[in-house]
Amino acid sequence: MSKNTLKPGVVTGKGYKTLVEAAKSGGYALPAVNVTGTNTINAVMEAAAKANSDIIIQLSNSGGQFYAGKGLKDAFNAKVMGSVAAAQHAHLLARHYGVCVAMHTDHANKALIPWIEAMLDEGEKYYEQHGKPLFSSHMLDLSADPIDFNLSECARILERMAKIDMSLEIELGVTGGEEDGIGSEFDEGADNSKLYTQPEDVLRAYELLNPIGHFSVAASFGNVHGVYKPGNVKLRPEILKNSQALVQSTHGTGQNPLHLVFHGGSGSEKAKIHEAVSYGVFKMNIDTDTQFAFSQPVGKFVKENTRAFEYQVDPDDGTPYKKLYDPRGYLRLGEEGVVARLQEACEDLGSKGKSIAGD
Ligand SMILES: [Zn+2]
Repeated sequence: MSKNTLKPGVVTGKGYKTLVEAAKSGGYALPAVNVTGTNTINAVMEAAAKANSDIIIQLSNSGGQFYAGKGLKDAFNAKVMGSVAAAQHAHLLARHYGVCVAMHTDHANKALIPWIEAMLDEGEKYYEQHGKPLFSSHMLDLSADPIDFNLSECARILERMAKIDMSLEIELGVTGGEEDGIGSEFDEGADNSKLYTQPEDVLRAYELLNPIGHFSVAASFGNVHGVYKPGNVKLRPEILKNSQALVQSTHGTGQNPLHLVFHGGSGSEKAKIHEAVSYGVFKMNIDTDTQFAFSQPVGKFVKENTRAFEYQVDPDDGTPYKKLYDPRGYLRLGEEGVVARLQEACEDLGSKGKSIAGD
């Protein structure tokens, strides 16, 4: 196994750092895809294998809850256990797909710090048994809170994570769009400094967190969650460039010292994506686009086979519809939709054919 080759499967600790560095030095970014159950998690691994790309799989707190089952009465416990179940699923299966998979959890705001801490309880137990954590990284998004609180909490959590070889993703500045509830206001974002991360804040984060452990930064440069009409989003990737340059010149580091993350990547212009990647973005979140990619073929199938979704056996001519209403049929179409959409994503991000998994 060469220096830059990793065993296929879930990568953590040193392996995760190698994966991040391979992307940055190779000039590509990895898709980070939100999953909600076995259909989506398997489709993402299948897509990565097909593209010969490594991949990041992530769960939001509600994705974790859905993974455990919406019927579980204790919603908080479901958010924890569902996320843990997804990570264990990946630890068992990812290596069989032959690519490297980073397991991550998405936005956790102040109210969700207990979710992160409960997952760390599980991660520490797993580390004791297996010598590696359950997840490669978690995200702590305290961008809605004052920066002093944001950074001190990130430092506190990273202290704990670093002990079990985990990485932390933080957010500075607010990503616009649905997830943060600012909806349609964002088109005036060009004048809203909160929508654009300040390089000075990134420098502060670097100075505090870099001595503690491995971390990445979701910086806001006009990106929004969801997909909106063209023209509403004014991406300014030069903010990323300026943040890298400030850390580099202040601390005499090499080029692109920060590991940057692009949130709200769905529907972005390809040229801006490439520019962001050239400034050290190694991860681009994709959620909305794969949701649609799953649902569209399912919708088409239902429309073409309406009788099968009304009757087990056709009351007029006795046709049995079992093959058509078997959920595996249309769920597989959804999976194939995700696989196809992620081939495009891997091409756009330059990760296609770049898997560093070896024997
Ligand atoms: Zn996000």
